[in-house]
Amino acid sequence: MLVLKFGGTSVANAERIQQVTAIVKRRLPQAPLVVVVSAFGGVTDALIACSAQAAAGQEDYLAPLQRITDRSLEAVRELLPMQVQSGALAQVRMLLNDLEDVLKGVFLVRELSPKTKDLVLSFGERLSAYIIAEHFKHRGLPAEHFASPDLILTDRNFGDARPDFAATNERIKNRLGDREGIAVVGGFVASHAPKQEITTLGRGGSDYTAAILAAALGADRLEIWTDVNGMLTANPRQVGDAFTIPVVSYDEAMELSHFGAKVIYPPTIQPVRDRNIPIHVGNTFDPEGHYTRIQQDIPATSYPVRGMTSIRDIALLSLSGPGMVGVPGTSRRLFGALARASVNVILITQASSEHSITFATRESHLAAAEAAVNEEFAYEISTGKVTPLKVESGLAIIAIVGENMKNRVGLSGQMFSALGSNGVNIRAIAQGSSERIISAVIEAGDAGKALNVLHEAFFTDTVKAHLFIVGVGTVGRVLLTQIAEQQPWLLDQLGVDLKVVALANTRKIAFSEIGIDLADWKTQLENSAQAMSMGEFVRQMQAANLHNSIFIDNTASAEVAQFYPQILRANISVVTPNKIAASSGYAHYRTLKQTAQRYGVKYLFETNVGAGLPVIGTLKDLIRSGDRIHRIEAVLSGTLNFLFNHFKAGTRFVDIVQQAKAEGYTEPDPRIDLSGVDVMRKILILAREAGYEMEMADIALKSFLPPECQETESIEDFYAQLEAHADHFDALRQAADDKAERLKVAAVLDAGQASVELRSYPQGHPFFELHGKDNIVLFTTDRYREQPLVVKGAGAGAEVTAMGIFADIIRVVNV
Ligand code: ADP
Ligand code: ASP
Ligand code: MG
Repeated sequence: MLVLKFGGTSVANAERIQQVTAIVKRRLPQAPLVVVVSAFGGVTDALIACSAQAAAGQEDYLAPLQRITDRSLEAVRELLPMQVQSGALAQVRMLLNDLEDVLKGVFLVRELSPKTKDLVLSFGERLSAYIIAEHFKHRGLPAEHFASPDLILTDRNFGDARPDFAATNERIKNRLGDREGIAVVGGFVASHAPKQEITTLGRGGSDYTAAILAAALGADRLEIWTDVNGMLTANPRQVGDAFTIPVVSYDEAMELSHFGAKVIYPPTIQPVRDRNIPIHVGNTFDPEGHYTRIQQDIPATSYPVRGMTSIRDIALLSLSGPGMVGVPGTSRRLFGALARASVNVILITQASSEHSITFATRESHLAAAEAAVNEEFAYEISTGKVTPLKVESGLAIIAIVGENMKNRVGLSGQMFSALGSNGVNIRAIAQGSSERIISAVIEAGDAGKALNVLHEAFFTDTVKAHLFIVGVGTVGRVLLTQIAEQQPWLLDQLGVDLKVVALANTRKIAFSEIGIDLADWKTQLENSAQAMSMGEFVRQMQAANLHNSIFIDNTASAEVAQFYPQILRANISVVTPNKIAASSGYAHYRTLKQTAQRYGVKYLFETNVGAGLPVIGTLKDLIRSGDRIHRIEAVLSGTLNFLFNHFKAGTRFVDIVQQAKAEGYTEPDPRIDLSGVDVMRKILILAREAGYEMEMADIALKSFLPPECQETESIEDFYAQLEAHADHFDALRQAADDKAERLKVAAVLDAGQASVELRSYPQGHPFFELHGKDNIVLFTTDRYREQPLVVKGAGAGAEVTAMGIFADIIRVVNV
């Protein structure tokens, strides 16, 4: 014998009820069956709305009822053949008339007692059970409808009634014990027998009805049919990657459902567990698909954590004060007062100092809790021994659950470090000595992010990273192409799932939480209605609150760089080729690095020096492994290298500069390159990364530009001055040619002194054979004393810069 329960979504309309019928038919060989049904999806909510509106004296309180009427009549018409419709329609109309009468009473007296509310709500299941039973009969199934108030008997705790198991079990056995065929019963609704008052078992209570029936009848199995494939590792509406847990123990299922896994109403487990009846949770819309079996013993599993949950609308209350230390009975008084006020306490923590006790309840219980505790401790509060209850609301509880979590060292460390590095602030923690559950109170707005972070940490081999990209110019564009091409490989080989969530140029922002399709990002950005403003971009990025968020600044803009501190403080990593921040005042540079560290995120800017070349990374590796830097000697400007490589006898310096600008080898303003400022910034960044507290002003610059070229009003004016001083540049070139040497703008850091200067190098020097836009960096260190460590290669260009940014992104993901 089996008990099958179908939830609200499974019976939401005629088409779905046909699917239910198919499942029931397939179970017929295992008859007798009891089929428990919920109200049609959304009907209980509509009844609550009706009764609240009636009690509030709103004239249109019958509006939600009209929708219930329409749906019920439509179900009858679609599910029953013509010849029997009139009888069923009359029956349904009668129920609806009764309901309307009750609601009218509520409207007239402007009062809705819990008892009347239960009566109103009972109509949902009474309607659905009747209609479904009739439908079964006319499909040839041996079905009969049984009124649940005759079967489940409870106390008078309306809205959340508790069964009288002895009486209930006897009733059920008497009425259903010897039956063959199918008994159809509405869930959720019960009664208090002495006065024949209708009660309900609490929202979601149809599961409970089914469990009570299964236990009383000693069913072989309880089947809960719903709209998801069983119990998943997390709520699939919150965690897209959640998957079905094949087997769960009763204890685990109980913890998961208590902490928010709504798929099973928490009290459901107990009655069937007592009789060791397994529960099968399956999907009405995928009956042959994955399902969960809930039973006593569970097989060993590779995952220590079985599932995770969250509950919103949580308030945290703390009672503290010197008068609590070492005073026995404080907890008893506190929780006694809460119990008397019917406050349900969900989580409790107390520090061993005994100075405070913190507990969590639903926000709906907050007022009652506050009043009860402040009254109980009124005397201690008046004498200052205890401070009035401290209250915080707008919180959520998240929990990880698993039988195999016992004795797993490091599990909570893993949980809290994953949350911490994503900026989820923990307000309270509780772990019972069963070690089956660890729960934490956090901001409600962080719950979705927290669940995804934990799901990734405990259940998946993939790591998602959410990218927010500003700047889709030469470098940004190439970066997007590289990401699009590399995505499949990254997912397959490294388990890294990169999602571009936002893109912006100077005019517009395109934003999509599910990820922008990189095949046509240009159109999406073009068609976006949202104008670009950095403030707005950052606001949206913070509001999205996605885990593993990375901000990528592909601009050279000071305005964008200003936002880094705010971004890092929002636990979002920053990756950028933009040198402005790292070469700004030393204090600011330090603050950025410290902020990143404090918030558990990264601020990476490898492409500030030598584009994609591993310069900063190499320097860091040397220093971290204990090497000492003696000297860094480098050609760090691909642009200047290009200029002097092409500046041969017979050419004009100004023409080469203009050519380089036209070919995109210079900064938008070539004066930044030629003045040496760009090289100064780079050596400054290297000096700082090498540990020197240095400012731009500390770098000795010997400009190769004559003074008139250094103080120009515009780029045009600059070109004119370069032309006017052609002799100066020719002379520099000639002097080098005469010695058979080559001109390079070299940056040197030596014993804490940094300089930038145009010099000529003889054949045999590593700088001599430096072609095109190449950069070179020589590190002379304790370990590389005789021969310096050399990093050399293309130091400019979109491809290599994008590659460097890409590598930093992967570094943030840390795989
Ligand atoms: P029914 O109406 O069938 O009783 P419910 O809406 O009460 O269905 O419960 C099913 C819902 O529970 C799912 O649609 C899902 O959103 C939610 N849910 C929450 N946590 C979980 C979980 N861990 N596994 C599966 N579903 C979950
Ligand atoms: N119809 C009730 C509710 O929506 C009971 C149930 O569906 O389990 O809460
Ligand atoms: Mg339910």
